[in-house]
Amino acid sequence: MSDFKLNIRDDMMDFLDEDSNDSAKKTWKIAVIDDDESVHDATKLALRNSTFKGNGLEFVSAYSAVEGFELLKSNPDCAVTLLDVVMETPTAGLDLVERIRSELNMHNIQIILRTGQPGYAPEEEVIEKYEINDYKTKNELTHSKLFASIASAIRAYSHLIALEESKEGLRNVIDAASNLIKERSIHEFANGVLRQISALFSISTQGIFCVSQNPGRGLQEMISKEGNSYTVVATSSKYAYLYGKALDQIKDEREIDIVMQAILDKSSHFEDHHTAIYLSTPACWEGVIVLDGRFELNDVQKELLQVFCQNVSLGLENAKFFSHLNRAAYFDNLTGLYSRSGFIFNVGTYYRHCKQNASLFIVDIDYFHDIIEGLGYEFGNRVLVAVATALTQSFSEYDMVARLHSDVFAILVSDNRRSLKEIGKILSKPIYVDGSSYRLGFTIGASEIDAGEELFDGESLLRQAEIALKIAKEQTRGAGMKFSSKFEEHNRKRLNLLGDVRHGLVSSEFFLNIQPKVSMNTGDVVGYEALLRWRHPEKGLISPGEFIPIAEKSGLSFDLDLHVFRLVLQFLRDYPDVAKPISINVSANSLHQADFIDGIKEILNEIPTDINKLQLEITENTLIRSDAAIRHLTELREFGFTICLDDFGAGYCSLGYLLKLPVDVIKIDRAFVRNITADVESLHVLKGMLAICMELKKEVVVEGVETLDQVKLLTDLGVEIAQGFYYFVPLLPSELVEKAL
Ligand code: C2E
Ligand code: CA
Ligand code: CA
Repeated sequence: MSDFKLNIRDDMMDFLDEDSNDSAKKTWKIAVIDDDESVHDATKLALRNSTFKGNGLEFVSAYSAVEGFELLKSNPDCAVTLLDVVMETPTAGLDLVERIRSELNMHNIQIILRTGQPGYAPEEEVIEKYEINDYKTKNELTHSKLFASIASAIRAYSHLIALEESKEGLRNVIDAASNLIKERSIHEFANGVLRQISALFSISTQGIFCVSQNPGRGLQEMISKEGNSYTVVATSSKYAYLYGKALDQIKDEREIDIVMQAILDKSSHFEDHHTAIYLSTPACWEGVIVLDGRFELNDVQKELLQVFCQNVSLGLENAKFFSHLNRAAYFDNLTGLYSRSGFIFNVGTYYRHCKQNASLFIVDIDYFHDIIEGLGYEFGNRVLVAVATALTQSFSEYDMVARLHSDVFAILVSDNRRSLKEIGKILSKPIYVDGSSYRLGFTIGASEIDAGEELFDGESLLRQAEIALKIAKEQTRGAGMKFSSKFEEHNRKRLNLLGDVRHGLVSSEFFLNIQPKVSMNTGDVVGYEALLRWRHPEKGLISPGEFIPIAEKSGLSFDLDLHVFRLVLQFLRDYPDVAKPISINVSANSLHQADFIDGIKEILNEIPTDINKLQLEITENTLIRSDAAIRHLTELREFGFTICLDDFGAGYCSLGYLLKLPVDVIKIDRAFVRNITADVESLHVLKGMLAICMELKKEVVVEGVETLDQVKLLTDLGVEIAQGFYYFVPLLPSELVEKAL
């Protein structure tokens, strides 16, 4: 594109067209080559004041063939030459013709040979060989005859030139379009198109480029007069005020009319003062380029313009698609905030820009699931939008706010540091949804970066704040936690442990402890609970309280649970004297997965066992609002397992909900037993729970019974079955058959 005579500023195109200024002065150059001076005068006289296609004639003269050669060499833009045949030699003119075509390579110039006598007319073959365009005798110097032949010569010349131009133009058009196809931002692309158009067609004008915002909009929307679905994506200086706006912001009636027409009949419009060029892409994105100004395109140029537009449509598709994908990938649809990837993508730039200490806060709405559960998904969305609005309003435009996922937001405060307390204060203000105000609880994780830190890694900053948030949720819900490098250590340990669990599973590091359940009235063993133990080759015995939660989070508890199931079945097979049922803990993770049931059935096939000897313990949190889990539980119960609701009272479920669950036994969490002998309130709570269970005629087991006082109290309350250190600690199978059959 370097050969275009255009000054183009980088950001705005500035149509500066040299040609258009001198196009008014354009003349057709005629070379008169004749050794007879009077012929020169007569020719000029005859053609004086003649114009062709609005342009006058300009004469240049030479008086011999040698001079003529030099004249044409220095005037390559001559349209026509009137060439004398006989000059220095009888064939000087014919010889010059040959040199014009072969040495000067002037193939467009029209050559009109002139001779003094009709008898000197060249042979036809000569005319053909030298591409001589016309032949006249000198006495045909009258105005009308001469003008007719000059006019047809100029016409022929201008056609040849146009053809050449269009060939050249076509090449440029295709080059320009293919350059544009690589452009991926819609703004850059549209600016490029405006520039290329002005360059290719030497149009000195102002322009607007607008595109539809969505592909394949319905017809109704397309023809809506508001034009709201079209946005101006590039402009020249005159129209700069329209940049980024909707089409209906165009002030000039004629401009808006021509745009709407182009959109309506999906074609380009060329009018006196405006041109609207219509583009459409295979995915039905549409673009309209409006050019303003008094300019004329010849037919060849108009055609080239159309070809150009067809070619750039593909580029438009590319750019639109890219920005569409970009938007989808980097922005959250619901709130318009950055998405997690948008945040990571941009955070580095923000940080480098501010060059100060920065803090990142990750904010999690407490009990958001309960909000959705209670008030609906749509309401939940409005809460999220309200939170997003409150956050954007509370921070400056130099801060970054993102929605990372569901109810988790990130705020990068880049101008200076803010404390967790300050953020908490901002968040404690009420938000407004549907005209009512709500106060939400938030848990916050924070991380910090020092000014001037060269290696800025947005992802690790985010990860640190997320770790802090996780720990805050476990320890100080409703408040905040700042990241400390200790957390990372903790996290790494957890990860290592996970790898070890995997390894331990295949190398038989896991084994069973079994804890009897006892009838409080008789002291007899009435059942058992299988509890998993892990002997780590280096770290020794690791409690399930440590590894079960990690395994659950990574999905590994599925394998662990099936492993325990198998160990229990092997135990029952190896000790057929064990007559009372044994219960097996099932984690949330396993119950959610449909193939858990298949896994259990497979093991039962392998080691046939009386199903009446098997119970499953499920914690209430496992079941929270999971239809799949409840379905699987029902299936297991129908299959013949006795189902036991473990840790009753420790979770977040409402009683009403819990009591509807398909369970046979309720196991009251040991937290409710711990203080009953010291604290009246605890006793009251336990009494209430027992009353409800009895009312529902569920079998009750109380766990964590450690002292004689507790035993007495519980017996008085009518509890029948207990489990706890007072009776038995968890035992190895071999110990159990000795002590507790
Ligand atoms: P859990 O299901 O509530 O199991 C009872 C826990 O209470 C066991 O701890 C047991 O050793 C302990 N315990 C029994 N009697 C007393 C007592 O009188 N006082 C006190 N303070 N504690 C008592 P353990 O074995 O450390 O297990 C902890 C948790 O790990 C279990 O709580 C259960 O949620 C999980 N777990 C243990 N084994 C398995 C298993 O095989 N699969 C699954 N999914 N989870 C398991
Ligand atoms: Ca249990
Ligand atoms: Ca329990």
